[in-house]
Amino acid sequence: MKKITIVIDGPAGAGKSTVSQHLAKRLNYVYLDTGALYRAIALAARQKNIPPTNSKKLYELCCQCRISFKKMKGKQKVYLNGKDVTSALRIPPLSLLASHYSKLPLVRKALLRHQRKLGEKGGMVAEGRDLGTVVFPHAELKFFLVASLKERSKRRYLELKDKKHSLKQIEKEIQKRDQQDRERALAPLKKAKDAIEIDTTTMTIDQVVSEMYKQVILSTKDFK
Ligand code: C5P
Repeated sequence: MKKITIVIDGPAGAGKSTVSQHLAKRLNYVYLDTGALYRAIALAARQKNIPPTNSKKLYELCCQCRISFKKMKGKQKVYLNGKDVTSALRIPPLSLLASHYSKLPLVRKALLRHQRKLGEKGGMVAEGRDLGTVVFPHAELKFFLVASLKERSKRRYLELKDKKHSLKQIEKEIQKRDQQDRERALAPLKKAKDAIEIDTTTMTIDQVVSEMYKQVILSTKDFK
């Protein structure tokens, strides 16, 4: 079967990460979490006290940051300049901070190059916000996942192990972040015209993955 590029976009908590990883495993494809790249830049900027307004320092930071992924015991780990930052990247304040920094053209430009380089060989399932519209507009298969705000907040809440944040707080954070991601001028969260939309609100992970797999089989027939 020909190896293709599959992109999965959608708002926070729609199920992108989980289903992308399952689909990548089933197809023996590489999994790319592009949100982790934005989160890592935001974390590095926070560690170095670089505000979004300091373009010069941010540019230097983007050039210097080494972000890499490694699979350990079936789980994806994210490294920033050699240090495991996987857990630090998931906390809610950092999600919102990532959304602030991701609005900046220089950050998007630096990460656009990085993402395209990572995806140049194909055989990849990548998840994000603007993959079908901007980063990989020629991807052979595009999905756009949605789910109700209530369901998405519940999923995020269950995912966070420390339970330091209430369900209501998570819901507010998700709502604010989605609005920011949708309304930004550059590469906003948007469904690509040729993307297949799946509402995952009442679906299990297996159901979503099976639906996607079916679409992969159908589309790789055309690309053989
Ligand atoms: O997907 P995740 O929730 O980890 O993304 C964190 C933030 O990174 C998003 O809210 C968004 O602002 C930004 N992002 C983006 N473009 C992508 C992936 C993530 O702007 N392709």
